[in-house]
Amino acid sequence: MDLSSLRNLVKRLDPRVVSVMKKTIERFDPRIIAAVEKRVTSIPFVKEKLEGEYNSMLADLENSIKPYRNEFEAFSCLPNAGRARNDIIEEMANLKSREESRWKDGFTSGAVYHGDDDHINFLNKVYAINSQSNPLHSDIWPSTTKYEAEVVSMTAAMLGGAEIAKNSDPENQICGVVSSGGTESILLAMKTYRDRARDLKGITKPEMIVPSTVHAAFDKASQYFNIKMIRVPVGPDFRADVAETKKAITKNTIVIVGSAPDFPHGIVDPVEELSELARGRGVAFHTDACLGGFILPFAKKLGYDVPPFDFQLPGVTSMSADTHKYGYAAKGTSVVLYRGLELRRYQYYTATDWPGGLYFSPTFAGSRSGALSAMCWAAMLSMGEKGYLEASEKILDTASAIKAAIRTTPELYILGDPLFCIAFTSDSLDIYKVMDVMTKRNWNLNGLLAPPAVHICVTLRHTQPGVVDKFVNDLKEAIEHVKRNPDEKGGLAPIYGLAATIPIKGVLSDVLVRYIDLLYKI
Ligand SMILES: *Cc1c(COP(=O)(O)O)cnc(C)c1O
Repeated sequence: MDLSSLRNLVKRLDPRVVSVMKKTIERFDPRIIAAVEKRVTSIPFVKEKLEGEYNSMLADLENSIKPYRNEFEAFSCLPNAGRARNDIIEEMANLKSREESRWKDGFTSGAVYHGDDDHINFLNKVYAINSQSNPLHSDIWPSTTKYEAEVVSMTAAMLGGAEIAKNSDPENQICGVVSSGGTESILLAMKTYRDRARDLKGITKPEMIVPSTVHAAFDKASQYFNIKMIRVPVGPDFRADVAETKKAITKNTIVIVGSAPDFPHGIVDPVEELSELARGRGVAFHTDACLGGFILPFAKKLGYDVPPFDFQLPGVTSMSADTHKYGYAAKGTSVVLYRGLELRRYQYYTATDWPGGLYFSPTFAGSRSGALSAMCWAAMLSMGEKGYLEASEKILDTASAIKAAIRTTPELYILGDPLFCIAFTSDSLDIYKVMDVMTKRNWNLNGLLAPPAVHICVTLRHTQPGVVDKFVNDLKEAIEHVKRNPDEKGGLAPIYGLAATIPIKGVLSDVLVRYIDLLYKI
């Protein structure tokens, strides 16, 4: 991907304009910056220049986003007669084989968390058995609702719910629903708190307080549901700042959030202190354990130092945990959990006056795939506690080896003290250039912003023999390459470099929007 034209774009803008923008950015509220930027970028001359740059940039990108154009027929409308099923299967198998080795051989950060052939084949069989089921029709497929209820119960029990089940009445149990992924779990929880606060406290201008490292899904929830998001900076250890969080609470605060751990740096927030703070102020608290939900409980059992983060803490009122990450289900499921049935009811949707009949659904979707839930149930049952413990042990050992190697590389250092999702950076080198060289060597790592860094989220794919050695070796060679060629152009380094110094956020957002447009181009 060559996005160096974005750098050209900034260079070509009048330096005085850029300097004014930079100064403004340093001093003002983000909303004021956005307004100023909007005015500058709506000047016809600037706008024209930007459009020209966008077009040339996207032309560069198109080939890498659409690699199959020249070789495979594209269908912009229905073929006249249906294609032979065998042809379709053959073509898909061909495409799959081109893409498979990258994730299967352990070159990607996160993405596929299990990926062993026997596990995949088992889940594929489960999909085939359940491919027609739809939990919206719970009367036709009661098997699906059985799977979903048990997925929720098993997840809740693992995250502190088992103790509560013994000691409290049915109304106060940990309960939840199966959603389509971490983002949906988070959106659902935030919507639930918005509706509950409006109903019980009359809050019409709701606010949520999140650490700056929280997942983008919370910002999405803020935009979708009109909840003001207050972002509190994290400390030097990348953990949420409790004192700053306390200062941010107002009469409109509906929920405080912590991550266990956060996606960028893999650090567990001080959930105990944060949730107690929330409880003391009568505010809800959500632990985002999308990433850690299916690994931290086992890490703890293996003797790792895991701070409390789940429903054992009385202030934690909801959690998100992704079955489709370290739960090893196929993509498309996650669990959102609540303390008490009353809270969960604010999430539901019901219609009693629709001409289509009495209608209800627990999540955002109407019809959805029961097969994904069946696969999730099957993955959890087939792993069992022992399977999760063994998988977690392998992953944590592998992560330790990677951390040790980074710690002995003088040019690099690790951000904070993570367990299995490791962010690292450099003071002497452009870390994005290191990432670009790694990309050329087939690695797919995540570039982080503020501060500039790169991360690798360790999965079972990395526990295969030879993967860590290859990673460490390639990383060392990438560092040497960047040292020898500090002025090399191209790659993602320029765009990440720009984003990290936030010269013009709206421009970056325009680029991303056009990137999405491109994904849907034939
Ligand atoms: C992955 C992740 C999410 C969002 O999950 P999706 O399944 O991608 O929607 C939220 N929070 C954290 C910490 C995550 O790692």
